[in-house]
Amino acid sequence: MLSLQGATVRFGARAALDAVDLDVAEHETVCVLGPSGSGKSTLLRAVAGLRPLDAGRVRLAGRDLDGVPAHRRGVGLMFQDHQLFPHRDVGGNVAFGLRMHGVPKAERAARVGELLELVGLPGAGRRAVTALSGGEQQRVALARALAPRPRLLMLDEPLGQLDRSLRERLVVELRELFDRLGTTVLAVTHDQGEAFALADRVVVMREGRIAQSGTPLEVWQRPADEFVARFLGFEN
Ligand code: ATP
Ligand code: MG
Repeated sequence: MLSLQGATVRFGARAALDAVDLDVAEHETVCVLGPSGSGKSTLLRAVAGLRPLDAGRVRLAGRDLDGVPAHRRGVGLMFQDHQLFPHRDVGGNVAFGLRMHGVPKAERAARVGELLELVGLPGAGRRAVTALSGGEQQRVALARALAPRPRLLMLDEPLGQLDRSLRERLVVELRELFDRLGTTVLAVTHDQGEAFALADRVVVMREGRIAQSGTPLEVWQRPADEFVARFLGFEN
């Protein structure tokens, strides 16, 4: 479904993404873990087309994405700093993109309602996004990313600002939603529990490279090296 070969992004002399090879199968959920600055967001931005590659290639569903602009890539992206549209209300933010994706008007309202319920903001469609808390804004951004039901959905710290009980509920419901819709997911998270609950496969990044890729159980039971073991919090 998604395939990166030698994907490289440089900022000055440093490679934020350093010749990364990664394949994500259709319907697979891959969670990207790694320390701050290891290149997780850069990976997502490169796939989304927000940052050009300096070397290597990205293919999606067999198509080389070189030169394909972000809005034509058919991928959904939720940013780490979830930029909502301040002049639209909550419903307007979630519905953004649905018209472009050809979803009929009658269905748009229903879909917005469902998603707001999913993220724990039922009936909030008319509220101003500027009057929401950080966690509420994050949930609106998540609903907006889910709304068009993209084949590839990329989430950067989607639940980062939420309290534990809400996170735990959302992880379960997102997992069900992805299974039901057959969505392919590439998600960055700092929370190992979240990664292990959500992911079919975990990718651990270090300095722009993939230190390990495997099922949560494999990575947990057999960390590839000392870096991964330390990162997962094992003492030795
Ligand atoms: P975090 O967990 O803190 O979000 P990350 O793994 O998402 O970290 P990236 O944002 O991908 O890290 O950044 C990887 C490296 O690239 C960092 O060293 C960062 O400083 C650098 N970098 C990212 N964006 C830029 C930019 N626009 N200009 C210069 N350097 C950048
Ligand atoms: Mg990041």
